[in-house]
Amino acid sequence: MKKVVVVGGGVAAKGFLGASIALNRDVAYTMIRKNTRGPVPCGIPYAFGIVLSTGSHPVFPPFPGKDLEGIYVIEKDLDKVVALKPVVEAAKSVVIVGGGFIGVESFEGDGHVESVKLADGTQINADLVFVAIGAYPNVDFANKIGLDLDDKRAVKVDAFQQTSDENILAIGDCASKIDIYTEKSSNIRLASIAAKEGRNAALNLFEHKMKFEVRGIMNLFSTSVGGTYFAAAGMTKSQCVNLGYDVVEVSVEAANRHPAALPGTVKTRGFFSLTRRI
Ligand SMILES: Cc1cc2nc3c(=O)[nH]c(=O)nc-3n(C[C@H](O)[C@H](O)[C@H](O)COP(=O)(O)OP(=O)(O)OC[C@H]3O[C@@H](n4cnc5c(N)ncnc54)[C@H](O)[C@@H]3O)c2cc1C
Repeated sequence: MKKVVVVGGGVAAKGFLGASIALNRDVAYTMIRKNTRGPVPCGIPYAFGIVLSTGSHPVFPPFPGKDLEGIYVIEKDLDKVVALKPVVEAAKSVVIVGGGFIGVESFEGDGHVESVKLADGTQINADLVFVAIGAYPNVDFANKIGLDLDDKRAVKVDAFQQTSDENILAIGDCASKIDIYTEKSSNIRLASIAAKEGRNAALNLFEHKMKFEVRGIMNLFSTSVGGTYFAAAGMTKSQCVNLGYDVVEVSVEAANRHPAALPGTVKTRGFFSLTRRI
């Protein structure tokens, strides 16, 4: 029986396993997850496929004071997130680093964070700080086994999720990505992309290569703040301008449902940047 080893147990791994098990019932899968006492990977020496899906680490630069109590990054670990609930509820002033134009210079305090100092000298009181400035690929294991990385330090993969080792595929946040517009390496790391790469890897592992390749990815984002919803896809206007595109902006207002007489219909406003390379 063929054996496949999946290192990591996140979104990408689940996307891979869902598609792969549906396609191939005569394959034995071993998933190795960091946070469980999972099976000993005795299948590795005999495996015909290894799939790396080790995800990403949150970015946490060495700001002075970063080790004070009360400063957190968001980790994709349910126990850690649940443990934060009482901390958030008890906090009186919370600073989220990552939404503004002015950078953080240092965290100040005596044992526990008391304030955040910005590069322009502003001091903001805080008894809880979240640093939310992105994620970088977790290539700890990939480095140990000598896989090639790309210029963003992600595991280098081709359009079929194949790494520099012909027996190893990589998917999700740990794997390199190509921006569909610029055709350059991208730092966009999303669950939607991870799941798609997982499904594609499953198809490619079983020789469906010609049909399923990831030609590139684009940014997709949605959130709600205070009851207003925001969503965006593709490049921002400034990214387009910086890349030398000619930008035409269009603003439209329309109902969010069709027909607009449906209950719960609200007006939405959209901005489109239509671009053409100069
Ligand atoms: C706060 C937050 C909000 C987000 N919101 C969105 C959103 O709205 N939409 C969206 O599309 N994306 C969102 N993302 C991004 C999304 O979570 C990631 O893109 C996605 O989780 C990547 O999936 P993955 O399987 O590649 O990695 P992960 O989900 O990080 O899973 C990797 C797993 O591998 C395990 N692992 C690592 N190393 C090893 C090892 N050596 N051995 C065994 N196991 C190992 C880890 O413990 C982890 O369980 C968000 C991320 C964060 C942090």
